[in-house]
Amino acid sequence: MEKIYLDYASATPVDPRVLEFAKRFLMKDMGNASSLHSAGLGTRKAIVEARTRIAELINAESENDIIFTSGATESNNLAIKGTAMRNTRKGKKVMASVIEHISVLNSMKELSKNGFEFGMLPVDSMGIIDLDQLKERLTDDTTVVSIMYANNEIGTIEPIKAAAKLIHEKGGFLHVDATAAAGKIPIDVQNEGIDLLTISSNDMYGPQGVGALYIKPGIKPQPFILGGGQERGFRSGTENLFGIAGMGEAARLAKEEMAEENGRLQKIRDQLIEQILEIENTNLTGHRTQRLPHHASFTFGRIEGESILLNMNQYNIQIATGSACTSRTLEASHVLLALGLKHEEAHGSMIISLGKSNSEEQIPHIVKAVRETIERLRAMSPL
Ligand code: PMP
Repeated sequence: MEKIYLDYASATPVDPRVLEFAKRFLMKDMGNASSLHSAGLGTRKAIVEARTRIAELINAESENDIIFTSGATESNNLAIKGTAMRNTRKGKKVMASVIEHISVLNSMKELSKNGFEFGMLPVDSMGIIDLDQLKERLTDDTTVVSIMYANNEIGTIEPIKAAAKLIHEKGGFLHVDATAAAGKIPIDVQNEGIDLLTISSNDMYGPQGVGALYIKPGIKPQPFILGGGQERGFRSGTENLFGIAGMGEAARLAKEEMAEENGRLQKIRDQLIEQILEIENTNLTGHRTQRLPHHASFTFGRIEGESILLNMNQYNIQIATGSACTSRTLEASHVLLALGLKHEEAHGSMIISLGKSNSEEQIPHIVKAVRETIERLRAMSPL
């Protein structure tokens, strides 16, 4: 049976072209970027080029606004805790949408243990943030507000530009976790008014263990990894050269191929949504149109997501049920609960996230597997 991978939101394989591009930085062109000899110079140049590719992907003012980190988790921690700690003179109030990734929520909770007031912003039943609530809750002493560009579990794309406008009216900073969106849909930090933006390499066919943070000129998060002052002092330590060069190439390819790949995946996604919703007692989670082009997510009444995942695996099809980062807890997804779903509804969830290996020809096999899985599990269900 052909393997069908439908969990690109949890992990993407490295694009072979990225590996081909970056492998020389592991073996040959690997001087320390801080060294003054020609090998160091070559390495510095490669890092600047990677920064430039990331800056182009999100339309940053310049490549100097991009710093590299170990991944989205670190970027989120630095953006949120670093900016909040640096701006305590303005105030000690921070906010995040209730559907943020655990690395955002835990950064906020850490601040709240240290004298900050942390407020959660609700979302509607489609996962769109409540802009009226945002406006109402913002005060002059609010510093960092974190709202994700698009949600990894339900695919919903947030009204970032409108949120930025409200936050800036009160002099606050908008941090956006774009892990699920970067490389998938166009992002323009200048036009949308984004102050800090998290990007992950391993969510866009780049190597694992590397991420980036866009920091708008004039903003200075307080660093928490101290040392030799690399990455403009925001993140010390010898650069992950292979990862950085690979991420740069992945960003270049994503920008170049985004429009065509989006069109292709959206067509597959729409057919999957239409056909899977024909199964009785099935609901789409997240927004129907304002969603990532490669993303479809569902709940099925009366069954458990883990059973769906394992049954689908027997068809050699890999899907997800909730965020991989919290999947071992077996708790209902905080994202689905935030939409107003009951615990038992949230437990029966399935996420399909498409990528480069998927094609229209796979649709009948996927739909048949989902249908048979759901029917089999419901027949066994005591609920
Ligand atoms: N934010 C979001 C929206 C995510 O989906 C993830 C996980 N891919 C992260 C942050 C954390 O990414 P990482 O585990 O690569 O640091």
